[in-house]
Amino acid sequence: MSKDGNGRRAAPVGPTESWMKRLCVMPRLPLATAALRMGGVLAAALVWSLAAAGEGMRCASCGGEIRGRYLHGENGNYCSQACFDKTLPACAACGRRCGGQHLVMKGVAYCSRACLETRLPHCELCGKALEKSIVIGTHTFCEPHAAGPKCWKCQLPFARGSKLKDGRHVCAACDRGALYNLADARPHLDQARHEVWRITGFRSPTVPELALVGLDDFTRISRSTPAAGMMQRGLYRRETETTTERNVFGRVRHRHEEVTETLYILYGLAPHEFVATAAHELTHDLLAEKYPRLGENTPAWVQEGICQYVSAAVCLLNGYYDELKAIEDSPDPDYGGGYRFFKNKFSDGRWSSLARWLDTADLAALPARPPPLP
Ligand SMILES: [Zn+2]
Ligand SMILES: [Zn+2]
Ligand SMILES: [Zn+2]
Ligand SMILES: [Zn+2]
Ligand SMILES: [Zn+2]
Repeated sequence: MSKDGNGRRAAPVGPTESWMKRLCVMPRLPLATAALRMGGVLAAALVWSLAAAGEGMRCASCGGEIRGRYLHGENGNYCSQACFDKTLPACAACGRRCGGQHLVMKGVAYCSRACLETRLPHCELCGKALEKSIVIGTHTFCEPHAAGPKCWKCQLPFARGSKLKDGRHVCAACDRGALYNLADARPHLDQARHEVWRITGFRSPTVPELALVGLDDFTRISRSTPAAGMMQRGLYRRETETTTERNVFGRVRHRHEEVTETLYILYGLAPHEFVATAAHELTHDLLAEKYPRLGENTPAWVQEGICQYVSAAVCLLNGYYDELKAIEDSPDPDYGGGYRFFKNKFSDGRWSSLARWLDTADLAALPARPPPLP
């Protein structure tokens, strides 16, 4: 606060806040579930019988005439145990001929439980052979493991991992190299700034303050929760505080604007996820500074679509293909629909055409939802 020309304290008007906040969300992976069931036990019903002389009965195995004691089976009569055994199937696992009692799964015979188990799916975590397995993506689990905690990133159950402060579980594999503190994250923010600059030719003179936060913090800061199946990864917040100084006659002597920019990013992201997210949020910063006419009244898909467009260009530049695919396939009407609108209009990474559009488009005429693609 400063003083006016008469030595009186100027009365500040405000602070007036102008908010710009964006939910920056990515779709979760879909889960697939399938189960496999085992076939029943085949019992070869064998009965020894006695043939009367001159019956003309023939062995179903060797074709020889049956006299006296013979074996009566489901599929015919046999002159000896050896002849019957020859008709039994070979074990699909060990190759040995199956005994009279063996196991059949999906029409394939196994001599023993041990042999059958070699062909059953096994739980990836406990190694148990499974008659009923749960398949998630391309991975197989037993029922207890499939019902246990799942990694927030790969969506899979895990044997080694941890629980984060905000309740997310993460497997050790996905957690390798993840960013949890500012010192580790800053170089990646610098990379994102550099790449947004390379793509757009614009480098903001001010660097937003970086904060690493949990999902619980996002709910509190943005006062909203993302749509089902979406997870918030970033948020750009810009606050403008206006202080107006007046003289004794109430005339405005000086108006002072102070802008605070904060870039919130979810902790626990891998460096490439962090860069893709930061590129999106830094584009919000760019739009706020360079295209203030793209304000609160412009439909959300315009800003989110442009931010995803720049983020996609960064992903393409770096070979972050899984991130790129998530942007391209996003079912969200603002993030996915907005991105596809600009991608269709300007192809990949044509910032100059997009900038021209930003300068000239009649923003008031834009529909609430991105127009359908031709
Ligand atoms: Zn956004
Ligand atoms: Zn025979
Ligand atoms: Zn066997
Ligand atoms: Zn298991
Ligand atoms: Zn994982």
